[in-house]
Amino acid sequence: MTFAARILTLYPEMFPGPLGTSLAGRALAEGKWSCSPIQIRDFAADKHKSVDDTPAGGGAGMVMRADVLAAAVDHAIAAQPTAPILAMTPRGKPLTQARIRHLASGPGVTILCGRFEGIDERLFDARPQIEQVSIGDFILSGGEVAALVLLDACIRLLPGVMGAPLSGDDESFEAGLLEYPHYTRPAEWEGRTIPEVLRSGDHAKIAAWRQRTAEDDTRLRRPDLWERHIGARVQPASDARRKNKD
Ligand code: SAH
Repeated sequence: MTFAARILTLYPEMFPGPLGTSLAGRALAEGKWSCSPIQIRDFAADKHKSVDDTPAGGGAGMVMRADVLAAAVDHAIAAQPTAPILAMTPRGKPLTQARIRHLASGPGVTILCGRFEGIDERLFDARPQIEQVSIGDFILSGGEVAALVLLDACIRLLPGVMGAPLSGDDESFEAGLLEYPHYTRPAEWEGRTIPEVLRSGDHAKIAAWRQRTAEDDTRLRRPDLWERHIGARVQPASDARRKNKD
């Protein structure tokens, strides 16, 4: 099955962009995913093809019009009714690996990319199926790069895209922890050696070291993740499942 990405944007030429190379590019050429950028401006009804206007209440910048975006979104829904629709916005719910995994297992995704100051809020009231998502607590100049981030994270999980089928399972966040650190040859570099245990060949010891290091690093670097991980462990399974969905 092809994972179909539809991207509503004022800059369709930005796609597939970097996703046309490397793993994602090969997967695109092999038909494992498809990339259909859609020009939002094509849905503007007036003769100037305007997609934005000045903010109600005053202030700097421009706001994307709800009527134009709704027409674009409705077109995308008609083309692919079962795909979730995500709007990229720093006001949205932070993206997680769990959400990415779920998206990657579905038919594809429709992504709405904002520009300027953002999107007229009435679009989200009128089309409640639009999920507002953020890729982090910082401001980009437009949603296109955020869409590329989201798509990259999904595409690498599609069947047959990553070399070794298990190489995704251990990654940071998959088990609610950061991943353990990595080392490779040379065995000594600038006087620094690789942790002895990794050269021991003792798989049980190596697994234990990796688990302990993942826990220590998560506790030190990401206390927020650690708290959630501990919370999920001490709760009954059903509670933990509910909490993870929040
Ligand atoms: N004025 C807005 C920011 C607009 S940035 C605010 O303060 O909330 C312009 C566009 O870039 C947004 O509409 C959104 O599509 C995209 N964008 C910026 N930062 C983003 C982020 N962290 N995550 C997802 N999209 C983002």
